[in-house]
Amino acid sequence: MKQKETLLTTPLNQEKLAVDNLLIEEMGDEHKASSVETPLRADAFDISDEEKIAAIEPHFKAIMEILGMDLRDDSLRGTPLRVAKMYVKELFQGLNPANMPSMTLFENKFQYNEMLVEKNINFYTNCEHHFVPFFGKAHVAYISSGKVIGLSKLNRLVEYFSKRPQVQERLTMQVGKALQTVLQTQDVAIMMDAKHLCVSSRGVKDDSSNTLTTFFGGKFQEEQTKMEFLKYVEIND
Ligand SMILES: [Zn+2]
Repeated sequence: MKQKETLLTTPLNQEKLAVDNLLIEEMGDEHKASSVETPLRADAFDISDEEKIAAIEPHFKAIMEILGMDLRDDSLRGTPLRVAKMYVKELFQGLNPANMPSMTLFENKFQYNEMLVEKNINFYTNCEHHFVPFFGKAHVAYISSGKVIGLSKLNRLVEYFSKRPQVQERLTMQVGKALQTVLQTQDVAIMMDAKHLCVSSRGVKDDSSNTLTTFFGGKFQEEQTKMEFLKYVEIND
């Protein structure tokens, strides 16, 4: 096992921790999430973004140095700060609920009560188990309950939840549930189709597989509506 055994007091604890650790390793490799909510500490935003960047920089620098890289090299010198900024300001800015896009609702004046599908929303996110990217297309659908939102808001919502360390199943559910709340309807469907670099560039190195995840709420749990959605999503893919 990889854990430090100096923390352990008895052989029994040692065994239990070894089992826990094995499960955690397996969860990571199998990409299983522990909950729909992103696991965040209560004090996650007690410090500012600038303080986070300043705190991450020396840690990333230490990782590079441990790997044996010479940080005096011009090409590498700025990397720790660049990575720290990228983590806080770009890749993981969706951790902070303050960055949730505003979702203005409009009346459904046309009385369009059919399914609305927005296909092929590009998303880029990072696997929380390996911190390498997974990316692909999201297909989002809803049936209006009397309210609608601007189409670009669907993209923004997918983007917001993508900017966290993620697991594809959780990302799919988070987008679905948020949309249900915003649109005040259960009738929401999501499909996400992604390539995981932690599967293709390392581990089993499978370059050809995609991962599909779905979320079907309300009417989309009925066979006919579900099939209609899936038919729209498959066209031109
Ligand atoms: Zn991974």
